[in-house]
Amino acid sequence: MSVLDENKLHEKLKKIKLVIFDCDGVLTDGRIIYNDEGQETKVFDVRDGHGIKLMARGGIESAILTARESKTVDHRAANLGIELVYQGMKDKLAGLAEILKKRPLKLEEIAYVGDDIIDLPVLKRVGLALTVADAVDEVRERADYVASKPGGRGAVRELAELILKAQSRWDDILSHYLA
Ligand SMILES: [Mg+2]
Repeated sequence: MSVLDENKLHEKLKKIKLVIFDCDGVLTDGRIIYNDEGQETKVFDVRDGHGIKLMARGGIESAILTARESKTVDHRAANLGIELVYQGMKDKLAGLAEILKKRPLKLEEIAYVGDDIIDLPVLKRVGLALTVADAVDEVRERADYVASKPGGRGAVRELAELILKAQSRWDDILSHYLA
């Protein structure tokens, strides 16, 4: 595992302004449920979603970049206040380019969370490469940080807290709930 030493990781985490999430296997556990009509359903984690909302409160935007297409993803994005949603992007670098047109950030200000080899081109280019505990080996070996929790079941919340803590935003957010 190419996990960075803590200081280098901390420096990378501090710069992040935008986190791009793959959907299947990151925001979900990767399973897709079909009903009798052939419509797809996915299962999202409420605590993961709250992590995305807390990042927004801390000034860190989220985006979704997925190769598949599903209305479920649009509903989830709307629910979480995510404006940048790119579906059907089998070429994920093209998706990254679209996002950069909308948000002209430096690559070092962008983190990407992916779980499969299709995500490697983007993971290699952005400033911070993040993944989930149950990602494929090829991704885990190349990530700057691997969450201890699996996709769709806590990894996103864990990564959100990691970034907010590195940017010294977490205590403020927590104090809001302890007041
Ligand atoms: Mg995936």
